[in-house]
Amino acid sequence: MNTQPLIKIHNLTKYFPIKTGFLRRTTGYVKAVDGVDLEIFPGETFGLAGESGCGKSTAARSILRLIEPTGGEVYFNGQNIMKLSSREVRNVYRNMQLIFQDPYASLNPRMTVEKLIMEPMIVNNLYTPAERKYKVNQLLEVVGLHTRHATRYPHEFSGGQRQRIGIARALTMNPQLIIADEPVSALDVSIQSQILNLLKKLQQEFKIAYLFIAHDLGVIKHVSNHIGIMYLGKIVEMADKKKLYTNPLHPYTRALMSAVPVPNPEAKIERVILEGDVPSPSNPPSGCAFHPRCAACLEICRKERPMLHDVEEGHRVACHLYNNFSNKL
Ligand code: SF4
Repeated sequence: MNTQPLIKIHNLTKYFPIKTGFLRRTTGYVKAVDGVDLEIFPGETFGLAGESGCGKSTAARSILRLIEPTGGEVYFNGQNIMKLSSREVRNVYRNMQLIFQDPYASLNPRMTVEKLIMEPMIVNNLYTPAERKYKVNQLLEVVGLHTRHATRYPHEFSGGQRQRIGIARALTMNPQLIIADEPVSALDVSIQSQILNLLKKLQQEFKIAYLFIAHDLGVIKHVSNHIGIMYLGKIVEMADKKKLYTNPLHPYTRALMSAVPVPNPEAKIERVILEGDVPSPSNPPSGCAFHPRCAACLEICRKERPMLHDVEEGHRVACHLYNNFSNKL
């Protein structure tokens, strides 16, 4: 395994101000992302999981500075990109691309597939027109489409094919990292596995690292090497895939895992029904943010926020009572 992470994120925060009154004074903050740390190694996949509204997509957009983060550091190939000028940042961001949940919304309906895939090359002034055309045809084949599709428009394709177009467009700049934000959640289950297998194939072929965001732990398991579980803007458990699926320690992780339809024979987890919704990040619960939904909650949980700490090498959890949930006891 590579010892240097391709991307290292330290204490990433994104707070949205709450403005009230006639003078629009800031009276509080929505802490959408609140101190996230993670690393992704070249050619590996970090899966970021959690229910919708827990801050996964905001974290992804903050990393790419599609929205400006409030704080934190993002090192890409050892360089802190938060300190670079906007021009320098543009060069770095060529190496990071985003795949969206809804490919249709992200593809300009007035552009042909050829133009859509070619656009990043034109914007970055790369290659001659003939080379661009050759590359478009190559990319179409790589993602499982046909060169005859180049002259068609996005509405002529199915959801799965549109996602393939989105992936081809993301590959145009030969990225080292792709952030895939719920890339299969809008697709039929049968198509989901085709797209997941395509992403895995591309990873092996081009050594791409993925930050893969999903709410479905079944999907996350299929693609990830390391996994972070996010709740209300914070990572509450992080481990490599095997450790997380055989010995999940946070009650939230266990609840998400028990909802995966295919039973996991390695982990003996009882079915946990997750009641209620993720609370508002503008008014988070005291102590452990998960305590209003946690069946194991004790007095300490309401008072003290559990910090994320190492329980064994490569396994971190933020829960006062994690020992009670270990399958290794
Ligand atoms: Fe549940 Fe307490 Fe652990 Fe929070 S700290 S997850 S409330 S047991």
